[in-house]
Amino acid sequence: LFNELQESKGNIRVFCRCRPLNKDEISAGCTTVLDFGAAKDGILTTIMPKKQFRFDRVYTPKDDQVDVFADASSMVTSVLDGYNVCIFAYGPTGAGKTFTMEGTELNRGVNYRTLELLFDLRKKRSDTFSYDISVSVLEVYNEQIRDLLATSSTTKRLEIRQGSKGSHHVPGVVEAKLENVKEAWDVLQAGSKARAVGSNNVNKHSSRSHCILCIMVMAKNLLNGECTKSKLCLVDLAASERLPKTDVQGERLKETQNINLSLSALGTVISALAAKSRHIPYRNSKLTHLLEDSLGDDSKALMFLQISPSDKDLDETLSSLNFATRVRGV
Ligand code: ADP
Ligand code: MG
Repeated sequence: LFNELQESKGNIRVFCRCRPLNKDEISAGCTTVLDFGAAKDGILTTIMPKKQFRFDRVYTPKDDQVDVFADASSMVTSVLDGYNVCIFAYGPTGAGKTFTMEGTELNRGVNYRTLELLFDLRKKRSDTFSYDISVSVLEVYNEQIRDLLATSSTTKRLEIRQGSKGSHHVPGVVEAKLENVKEAWDVLQAGSKARAVGSNNVNKHSSRSHCILCIMVMAKNLLNGECTKSKLCLVDLAASERLPKTDVQGERLKETQNINLSLSALGTVISALAAKSRHIPYRNSKLTHLLEDSLGDDSKALMFLQISPSDKDLDETLSSLNFATRVRGV
């Protein structure tokens, strides 16, 4: 019965992760506005105003990359069984999206751990399955798609094309075939470096663009020869904070409008899936269009809702919690 309930809850699971207060916040006397007393039951309480939010998981600032990946790993491995999977990190600037997905060299995140686990399982299952694993790394900035694995001689500006049977593809995109986890780490590093190229402020640029790691898996059952193709997308979304209109002009205004457009398109697609709507409006943004294959009816989706514990961020935190509650559709 529990499983049935899980199934009927809509298409997306939400794991809420709160980062620790940082040094600057501590020295500025910021306080924590969240109560994690019921985190084990998936409940997060805001202290002022006192309000409860329920998610599939709630991580306290003490939970580390291993704890977080332990809960996401079953979703990740289902890509080897033919499922399409999408994992997002959503939240305002500085809330921990990149920390969760990319992590740091010593504290590696979901992207690396995912590939590590896939290679591990590939080895364990090598008697019965062979798996081809390849990746592409894309950035969506101002409704333009850029290939972060492209060398200067290959196409960098990309468009989405419709293929047969409703599938679509991005002609010219680099798909790097990976043989082992060392190659996986190198490719992730290359993608991360390329994200910074051409921007004078790396953090600002990455806050205003979406970064998508696509892992394509071709599975062959060695006993009956059956082949399946599936895709796992890991997305570090653009920052969700809304800027006051009066502060924003010119190029910055365009960026802001494009972020708002794509994040609300994503919210709409997820809610439409949860509501089992007939028409899912994937085409409203490049982001949702790109993810159409891996965000469909029988695919699995997970959102890391990244939040700050600090009193100075309370408004933004409440708006993130409300957004996630809406898209969860329960
Ligand atoms: P975002 O990508 O959402 O803008 P970042 O991932 O860059 O935010 O995080 C902002 C800062 O906080 C970084 O220095 C990051 O290392 C740190 N940080 C975020 N989450 C955690 C966490 N769970 N534990 C420790 N440090 C964290
Ligand atoms: Mg970031």
